[in-house]
Amino acid sequence: KDFRNNVKPNWCPGCGDFSVQAAIQKACANIGLEPEQLALITGIGCSGRLSGYVNSYGVHSIHGRALPMAQGVKMANQELTVIASGGDGDGFAIGMGHTIHALRRNIDITYIVMDNQIYGLTKGQTSPSSAHGFVTKTTPKGSIEKHVSPLELALASGATFVAQSFSSDIKDLTAIIEAAVNHKGFSFVNVFSPCVTYNKVNTYDWFKENLTKLSDIDGYDNKNKQIAMNTVHEHDGLVTGIVYQDTEAPTYESQIEGYSDNLTKADLNIKQEEFDALMAQFK
Ligand code: SF4
Repeated sequence: KDFRNNVKPNWCPGCGDFSVQAAIQKACANIGLEPEQLALITGIGCSGRLSGYVNSYGVHSIHGRALPMAQGVKMANQELTVIASGGDGDGFAIGMGHTIHALRRNIDITYIVMDNQIYGLTKGQTSPSSAHGFVTKTTPKGSIEKHVSPLELALASGATFVAQSFSSDIKDLTAIIEAAVNHKGFSFVNVFSPCVTYNKVNTYDWFKENLTKLSDIDGYDNKNKQIAMNTVHEHDGLVTGIVYQDTEAPTYESQIEGYSDNLTKADLNIKQEEFDALMAQFK
């Protein structure tokens, strides 16, 4: 159960992504998975290199397309544990459409976003999760857009497992990834993973000063979506822990089993020969 390989990551020293990698490896070992039972599909960006650094099946896919590929892998082989991963630019800009539809679809995979509020690989441009007023070379007078709110987005889109963690708190992050992988359905985990080279605002110290653990909030109930939404909103998204979990919702896979069994020609409104050809494909 050793998810380490001999490839040395080329992230900058101090990058938050090191801890995300370690937490994924530890969580999968704790669950008792074997490397050949895991598929790790990543997008493009510094975080996208992750799939090369873990001893498992892996695809370093294309920009914003980790989720479609991960969902395809899961549907093709439902025995596999599938983790998709990428950065905030990958998941909340070019890949945003895929993110929203995966959130509502509830395929049993885990999606881990390494959110550093900047584009690191391309040397420091404003990303969708950069705060209003954030100064970079693409927004020299400060970003004039409001940042996306990943947790509210996930809740509003119908995700059945929504969590957030901080790469500096590897114990909490490992526990959250374990819970996410064990959840039956789509699990969304946003991880604040500081870019020490280009983001001089959202630093480790900044997160330590600004994050609130949900476990420290009296009466917080992660089964209640309204409480989850209100709490996330009140804290401007700066909370950590399992924000929301619905253990009752059926997965996509469980609903597609037998989906074509009772179809009739009348359901499809097509000619008999077209119907026969279609049904032959499901046999
Ligand atoms: Fe990490 Fe930023 Fe360096 Fe990329 S540029 S490896 S995100 S610290």
